[in-house]
Amino acid sequence: MSSRLLLAALAVGVIVTGCASTTGQSASTPPPTTPLPTTSPSSSPPASAAPASAGAMRAAIESVAWGDGRNTQGMSKGVPNPQDWYTAAFGPRTSDKVLYLTYDDGPWPPYTDQVLDLLAENDAKATFFVTGNQAKQHPNHLQRIIDGGHAIGDHTMTHADLVALDRDQIRAELGKVKKIVGPMLGACMRPPYGLIDTLVADVSADLNLMPILWTAHAQDWAPGGVSEMVQRLKDGTAPGAVILLHDSAGKEKTISATRQMLPWWKSQGYRLETIPACRIR
Ligand SMILES: [Zn+2]
Repeated sequence: MSSRLLLAALAVGVIVTGCASTTGQSASTPPPTTPLPTTSPSSSPPASAAPASAGAMRAAIESVAWGDGRNTQGMSKGVPNPQDWYTAAFGPRTSDKVLYLTYDDGPWPPYTDQVLDLLAENDAKATFFVTGNQAKQHPNHLQRIIDGGHAIGDHTMTHADLVALDRDQIRAELGKVKKIVGPMLGACMRPPYGLIDTLVADVSADLNLMPILWTAHAQDWAPGGVSEMVQRLKDGTAPGAVILLHDSAGKEKTISATRQMLPWWKSQGYRLETIPACRIR
């Protein structure tokens, strides 16, 4: 029973932020203080909505039991813990056929250019989690990402293991990227290696950055062929999936897998969109 109570408490916490639907909530649930995301059709409806204000974002982040950041169990299966980060960032899992591709560790020519070309050819959007060190070297690529209708998130200055740092160091790692990327940076961050604890989450909330992990990846950092990567991407394809890829050095196989998968996703009826929390408002 205690775990059910905890779940209920978490659900109520998310409801108050206005980023969740009312499905399955009891009558005692307080009314949302901000408009709920609409599910009515429009020209391009978001599948889910990010928390609308800094206060709502903090409440959503604080609704997650981040733990101590030593989330190797989930990581070893390819998905970082805690999995309830998703509800905080997106609201309830959608049945809408939308996918969120994410490319980490760039911008890194020529890989970022190749990804951008493929996305444009396939009318697909993605989110790029950049490091400050790479962004500083390739400012024109930041603009090109934004001009293509994509989004940019904060992946720390030096690709640091944030869980190993103190509050000031975490703030510096994330804050420097904000300075370098400026107004092109969306209100989101991805902790390197998917390692995040309560302190990292709290500093992220201080900086108005929603933590974004992933639900699937191609394991594109490990040895293995393109066909294996493609299979992993197909296996991870589901409504609302957040897919981790990289546009950093030596990622030729990621480019090949992206080239194969974009038309396949389309043939399966999926739209590829930027992560709502990462969009520039
Ligand atoms: Zn990374």
